[in-house]
Amino acid sequence: MKQRVVVVRRMDEDHLARLRQLFHVNYFDTLGRDNQQDYIRAMRSAHGLIGGKLVINREILDEAPHLKVISTISVGYDNLPLDELTRRGILLCNTPDVLTETTADTGFALIMSTARRVVELADLVKLGNWVGHIDKPLYGRDVHGKVLGIIGMGRIGAAVARRGALGFGMRVLYSNSSPKPALEKELGALRCDMDELLAQSDFVCITVPLTAETHHMIGAAAFLKMKPSSILINIARGKVVDEAALIAALNEGQLGGAGLDVFEEEPVSAESPLLQMPNVVALPHIGSATHETRAAMAKLAVENLILALQGKSPRNAVNEQVLLAK
Ligand code: NAP
Repeated sequence: MKQRVVVVRRMDEDHLARLRQLFHVNYFDTLGRDNQQDYIRAMRSAHGLIGGKLVINREILDEAPHLKVISTISVGYDNLPLDELTRRGILLCNTPDVLTETTADTGFALIMSTARRVVELADLVKLGNWVGHIDKPLYGRDVHGKVLGIIGMGRIGAAVARRGALGFGMRVLYSNSSPKPALEKELGALRCDMDELLAQSDFVCITVPLTAETHHMIGAAAFLKMKPSSILINIARGKVVDEAALIAALNEGQLGGAGLDVFEEEPVSAESPLLQMPNVVALPHIGSATHETRAAMAKLAVENLILALQGKSPRNAVNEQVLLAK
């Protein structure tokens, strides 16, 4: 008998066809209040779950006694109860690596657009307000040759650092739980404590995962340590930054601007003061959102799911101990 798979959120037909060849597929291209009960009913017989922005909690897991594998189409899994999955012997797979360069591109787009006021000044032109010589009040700041501070020197942090050091001649500082000697050698990056990184960096780029430890890691105390001209870039998760403190710091001129791909609540409220600030560039969580990269992520997630349900080792197991226990 075919195993059963639940697919959540829109997936391309070729991937669905591949899954349908092997499994009985329940497909929810959108998930909301109107089909929540259908989703839970499908989970009751599901062996695998695949998709993005997955909603899983204990109650749903209690309804899914056959579930063996969750394959998330993302590298981050802060939305999923990892310990609970491991305790229940449910394997979690994610999609690292294939999105690293694209997400770093997004980070650099935010660095460039905040420093050079790209959005603000492009709007000025489009609104017909370019009426004369652009003078000092509208000048931006240089990116090349500045100090780039990376908080979380993992795959994406390193890819941003590479762009900065090799492409823009930036000096790279980083704060990370473990040292990265190879990157220090490759990029001349220097590991330092958070206080020093905040005090010295012109751009502070957040690329740590959201965990209990990193929740609100950057808040009022951090903003006081930053230079008034420095720019905060967040391409990780909104909740790593205390957003109320960020708004206060920007209002008080404690930092020069912010480039944000992620927010504490998403979609960010249209009422957020951040959206009224000309020195804030806000994106709708598009770190990995290119045709090429989203396709590669979906392909990898499908492969992970198939391998795991066939009893083989997937390429990206988050809780490998589940595999070892079998
Ligand atoms: P990664 O390779 O695991 O890198 C994370 C890095 O953070 C690691 O070097 C890790 O250190 C370090 N770290 C973890 N906790 C820390 C702490 N408390 N203090 C200091 N450093 C800490 O992950 P990645 O692939 O680069 O992805 C990073 C995050 O980016 C993801 O978790 C996801 O939330 C986010 N992301 C966002 C988007 C988007 O659309 N905006 C797209 C992709 C990813 P160790 O090496 O010592 O473990």
